[in-house]
Amino acid sequence: SDHQLDYPVCPSQMDWSKHYPKYYAPVETDNIAIVPSKRPHSPATSVSADALTAACTVPVDNFSKTSEDAPKVEFADLGCGYGGLLVGLAPIFPETLMLGMEIRVKVQDYVAKRIHALRIQNSGPEGVTGGYQNISIIRMNAMKFLPNFFEKGQLSKLFFLFPDPHFKKKKHKARIISPTLLAEYAYVLREGGIIYTITDVKALHEWMVKHLTAHPLFELIPEEELATDPVIPHVRESTEEGKKVARNEGDKFLACFRRVADPLVP
Ligand code: SAM
Repeated sequence: SDHQLDYPVCPSQMDWSKHYPKYYAPVETDNIAIVPSKRPHSPATSVSADALTAACTVPVDNFSKTSEDAPKVEFADLGCGYGGLLVGLAPIFPETLMLGMEIRVKVQDYVAKRIHALRIQNSGPEGVTGGYQNISIIRMNAMKFLPNFFEKGQLSKLFFLFPDPHFKKKKHKARIISPTLLAEYAYVLREGGIIYTITDVKALHEWMVKHLTAHPLFELIPEEELATDPVIPHVRESTEEGKKVARNEGDKFLACFRRVADPLVP
């Protein structure tokens, strides 16, 4: 359920300091507007539209001295599960901030502890300067609040790895790739950015390819081009679900799409 999910009213209101302390200084909490989602009886749910707009226009400078220069999250792994992709990519793109989004409390908890342990094991003499400072996880319904976290064109990579198949026709609307959600993904992904999809379920693969191909802001990336992408081996092999499929000798259907320019924008 979404009842305990907190999300910022807009990206500039997000406090990233707890996720990426190497890059973001701690924030004074008085300045942050967080919306608890649909929490019954919570007075904060009645924040007026004016108050939210005002909160969004507070300059970033008021939140953190360093956040102005800090890199923004660029890769998002939606439904990241146990975090294998993040851990695999962290050393390859050491200065790129990556965020996993996962809806299950216990799984999110596990990944947060996993990252914490990796940071400690890899910490340098000053404690905070070692490896794995560039990855983090948040408990979130990735199908609902993406534009609250990411600005237009902020992301360069979006991952949908072994998403839940929702086999029954009635459940297809619960799939994480859908015509409505593609508009949102196109919004947060910059031109030239890439959506990576992989699944062991052929029908789901066909569904994702059908909808992404039909969307005017995405084009299928030819296989030859993917051969040189260092991310692909991790998409195939680094996640826990990918490893399980390999153990069971299942198929893996990969399809990647580039965000193209909007033909309607001159
Ligand atoms: N990507 C991971 C992997 O390859 O190992 C996990 C795959 S698992 C089959 C699908 C994951 O998506 C589950 O961990 C599930 O809890 C998560 N999930 C499903 N719907 C979600 C949503 N709306 N927002 C965030 N996570 C979601």
